[in-house]
Amino acid sequence: MALPKVAVPTYSINLPSDGSIIEFRPFLVKEEKILLLGIKQAAEMEDLTLAQSHLIKTFKAILKECILTKGYDLEEAPVFDLEYIFINIRAKSVGEIVEPTYTCSCGTPVEVQVNLTEIEVTQPKDKKMTVDLGGGVGIKMKYPKADIMEKLVYSTEEVDKIFSILIHCIDYIFDSETTFKASEYEESELITFLEELPKDAFQNIQDFFEDMPHTEYTAEADCPEGKETFTIRQLSDFFV
Ligand SMILES: [Zn+2]
Repeated sequence: MALPKVAVPTYSINLPSDGSIIEFRPFLVKEEKILLLGIKQAAEMEDLTLAQSHLIKTFKAILKECILTKGYDLEEAPVFDLEYIFINIRAKSVGEIVEPTYTCSCGTPVEVQVNLTEIEVTQPKDKKMTVDLGGGVGIKMKYPKADIMEKLVYSTEEVDKIFSILIHCIDYIFDSETTFKASEYEESELITFLEELPKDAFQNIQDFFEDMPHTEYTAEADCPEGKETFTIRQLSDFFV
C-alpha cells in the first residue's frame, strides 16, 4: 500500500515589480537539502562573483519547484522579484527569523536578528525606464534578469562585468527617428556604442542602476561597544 502524503499549504504574495499575485508552497525537506548544500558550497568559494552566481543558481532551482503560478517565467523575471519571492518562501518554510553575522564598524562580529517578513523591496519614486544620452538619443532600459548573474562568471575583468550587465539591460536605443532593438545587435556592437559615449551620458546610465529597486532591511546591531544601525541589501547576506 502506498504511504500517505502530507498536504503542503500554499501561500500568495504580490510581486514588487508590477503587483501581480504569485502562488507558492514552502520548500520540502529534499529542497532544503539542496539549499543548505548550495549555501555551504558558495561560502567556500573564494571568487565572490562565482559564489554569487552559485547562490542564484541554487535559489532558482528551489524557486522552480516552489512557485505554483502557471506560466511564470523565472528567466524573464527581474532579480529583485526573485529575491523577494525567495525570502518569502524561506520564511514560510523554515521560519521568519534568521540570524546572520554582521561585522560592526569596530570590527566585532555581532549576531543580528532579521525578520524575513519585514524585508521590503525599495521602490524609487517616479523611476524612469529611459535614460537620456543627449542630442535626442536615449536608451530604453530593462531591469537585470536572473540569467545575467550566471553569465557574469565567464568574464573575469571587473569592467567587463559592468558592461556585461549594462548591455543586457538595454531594451532598445532610440533617436528622434528610429528605434534600434538591442537583441538585433552583436554584444560587441553594443559595447562599442557604450564605450563611445561622453562621460556624463554614461553617468546617466549608471544612475539608472543606482536607484534600482532592491531588497533592503535596516535594524540595530547590539555590539558591546554600542548599538549600531546596519542595512542589508544583498540577498546572500541574509543567509550566509
Ligand atoms: Zn561595534
